[in-house]
Amino acid sequence: MRILLVEDDPLIGSAVRQALQDAAFAVDWVQDGATALSSSRTENYTLILLDLGLPRKDGLQVLRELRQMKNAVPTIIITARDAVEDRIRGLDYGADDYLVKPFSVGELVARMRAVVRRNNGVADPLLSNGDVSLNPATREVTRNDQLHVLSAREYALLYALLLRPGAILSRDDLEERIYGWNEEVASNAIEFIIHSLRKKLGKDAIKNVRGLGWMVNK
Ligand code: CA
Repeated sequence: MRILLVEDDPLIGSAVRQALQDAAFAVDWVQDGATALSSSRTENYTLILLDLGLPRKDGLQVLRELRQMKNAVPTIIITARDAVEDRIRGLDYGADDYLVKPFSVGELVARMRAVVRRNNGVADPLLSNGDVSLNPATREVTRNDQLHVLSAREYALLYALLLRPGAILSRDDLEERIYGWNEEVASNAIEFIIHSLRKKLGKDAIKNVRGLGWMVNK
């Protein structure tokens, strides 16, 4: 999952980015509203974490412009403003959830998972295609009654595939979902992760569609 973090406080921003990277998210961090808008125009984010008090453009204005552009990317507002009116305004402008600082990273990540699930029309917190089951809360995966624990990258890649069983994701699609801007990506990185996932789960757990990419069965 590729996340856009919009936060102008350097301490909070770097702490949240680190915590999210530890939880296997790819994170792009920007520190003002104008950059947040231009980034969300050029990149495909799974979710935006949006502070409200921001230089160059207020968070509520960013959200309003996003929605006016018909950009429906799920957005969670994170802010110290806990006035009820601000909360209502944020939700009315099209935010999917609202978290008041200071918050626990555990709660933030749980809410992010819930918002992404809702957005993909998935009710069950367990992701499964009937063959491979993934528990996003624990990063545990089961296949044929065998339990495996995945690395952060393996988890992120399998999550992307299991979110839409039957859909083919290309190397670019996968890199975009797994890596943030500041991360070096080796040219064979995706193949390498697929290889280690297949070693754990079995060769046929992930299908290669020649020239196009990879998928899990529907
Ligand atoms: Ca701020």
